[in-house]
Amino acid sequence: MDNQLAALRKELQYDKTNSCVQCGYCLPVCPTYATMGKETHSPRGRINLVKMVGEGRITDLAVLEEPMNLCLGCRACETACPTGVEYGAILEAARAAITRRKKFSVPVRTLRGVLFKKVFPSKKAMKLMGNGLWLYQKSGMQKVMRKSGLMGKLPYHLGSFEAVTPEAVAPRDRGRLPKRLAAKGEKKYTIAFFTGCIMDAMFQRINRLSIELLAKAGCDVIVVEHQTCCGALHAHSGEMEEARVLAKRNVAAFEQEQVDFIVNNAGGCGAMLHEYADFLADDLDWSERARQFSLISRDISQVLVLCGGVPVEDHPVERVTYQRSCHLTNVQRVVNEPLQLIKGIPNVQLIEMNQAEMCCGSAGIYNIVNYDASMEILDRKMESVKETQAVSIITTNPGCLLQMKLGIERENLGSSMRAVHLVEFLAEAAGIK
Ligand code: SF4
Ligand code: SF4
Repeated sequence: MDNQLAALRKELQYDKTNSCVQCGYCLPVCPTYATMGKETHSPRGRINLVKMVGEGRITDLAVLEEPMNLCLGCRACETACPTGVEYGAILEAARAAITRRKKFSVPVRTLRGVLFKKVFPSKKAMKLMGNGLWLYQKSGMQKVMRKSGLMGKLPYHLGSFEAVTPEAVAPRDRGRLPKRLAAKGEKKYTIAFFTGCIMDAMFQRINRLSIELLAKAGCDVIVVEHQTCCGALHAHSGEMEEARVLAKRNVAAFEQEQVDFIVNNAGGCGAMLHEYADFLADDLDWSERARQFSLISRDISQVLVLCGGVPVEDHPVERVTYQRSCHLTNVQRVVNEPLQLIKGIPNVQLIEMNQAEMCCGSAGIYNIVNYDASMEILDRKMESVKETQAVSIITTNPGCLLQMKLGIERENLGSSMRAVHLVEFLAEAAGIK
């Protein structure tokens, strides 16, 4: 084997493909295989393509591009795989290899540079984005735009997403997210809260509710200064170096506080935080620090269950279903805690949907860049949702939340169904507004 091929194998994490025995147990859980029906758009097929590149049987990496781009990265295949194939690592390595060689046009390269290096990692930029959204919604511009018919002409179907964007927090309230909040009653844990970038800009109300819920459940909550975006969007888009920079910034920021847990409320971010240990494993200066970070990283549902649940007030009868966040289920392997919390609320009837393990098609920015494929997956998901006759779809990730809202819009179910984050649902039950 020549040096070039050996280097490519290392870059692609080729050795990990050898664990795949081609059994196909992963096929029934793969949403892109279900909707596209092609072997190249299945986990097994994608692994095979990487294998063939690593063995020099395919010499043009461009062959990997479409199958890898159309993968949701939901990692349901990892959960189904009997031999423990590390599909997520194979996917990210392939995407990074493609990105390194790709000649992006100047506008695309500029946009990627601005988004990944200047916007997501910057608290100021995300705050500006949140305030801009508020101004758009409150100034009357939103009404004008909606009436003008221009929404349908926006690129990447952005008009559809605009219709389900949450109400932004007013600028005067944005700065009011507490830096510290003491436990109500007996203190059980001290936790550091991870605010995230999109969560902080667009879903800050859910962050505030999370902090108040955690305090009510018995946690001293610290909102650590100098924390930044988790880097998940970067890693999933092949921008590995920038993702590592962000991971290190977060590890350094959270080490400043002595806490029992680092808590997040977004399945996608949580998966990234959970994997910092693997992500920085080869970096001698950071591997141990990252391991310590990941060791105490938890989803909010885990910590609320450890605290004994949420103190609940009276709750009306309500039929609900739970849309799992793939990254919470398949990467963090948190399955029971959200269900336990929902079932713990009196008068709530939880109906599990068919094929609950199937991704909703949101997957970071997948629904924007692969809109048609995403909507096909969403429409299937909505069939399962409708069968439950639920009034509320509860989920644990901002992307899934928006996608479920979009599904409700597409099905014209807005008058009889809603989508909420688990935190919103629990806060309602606990009387926190
Ligand atoms: S990550 Fe999801 S979409 Fe991608 S191959 Fe695995 S199951 Fe299919
Ligand atoms: S990835 Fe796992 S489940 Fe899928 S074919 Fe390979 S060994 Fe079988």
